[in-house]
Amino acid sequence: MNKIVIASNNPGKLREIQGLLAPLGLEVLPQSSFNVPEADEPHHTFVENALTKARHASRIAGLPALADDSGICAEALGGAPGVYSAHYGGFPKSDERNNRKLIEDLRGKSNRRAHYYCVMVLIRHADDPEPLIAEGRWHGEVIDEPRGAGGFGYDPHFLLPEGGRTAAELSPEEKNRVSHRGQALRRLLAALQERGWRG
Ligand code: IMP
Repeated sequence: MNKIVIASNNPGKLREIQGLLAPLGLEVLPQSSFNVPEADEPHHTFVENALTKARHASRIAGLPALADDSGICAEALGGAPGVYSAHYGGFPKSDERNNRKLIEDLRGKSNRRAHYYCVMVLIRHADDPEPLIAEGRWHGEVIDEPRGAGGFGYDPHFLLPEGGRTAAELSPEEKNRVSHRGQALRRLLAALQERGWRG
């Protein structure tokens, strides 16, 4: 398995995933290289959406595919925006509108705890009956005032319990070491090695 397609067009995610996979010598190609249009994400669970995206990209590119589905879950909002994080502020998706809505929804709430969740799926071909699946969670708190210019999405409002910095104030390497996506991908790679999985 030398080449795999990543089922995402989100430049922030692509950067992070390519950074995590580069040391493994895998040629990681974005789905835009194969003109893969964005897949629908009709499901109510992260894992179903990740599988749908992976199958869609694999079918069109004719390659093994890696997909992630992720989001931020606020405790005081019963886990919202969760699986709907990308379009929380409406269509077309906008980080600025998403962040504004999250802050508005949390106004007056003292419980600011939240976690990022990520599930990663790797399939050998579009109809692979044995996808590799791994997840990661990253806990923090939502703050009203944004801080930092790194990362993407909700990162400027996601304060980490240790160090007093937001996710947007971490370097890409620091974020990959601790983030939900970094955790999920490392677990996926461990499972890949354990299974001796071949593309
Ligand atoms: P999807 O996985 O493409 O459906 O979208 C996930 C959405 O969750 C993104 O568009 C962001 O709004 C949010 N999200 C997921 N991971 C992160 C992260 O690492 N930082 C900031 N926002 C994230």
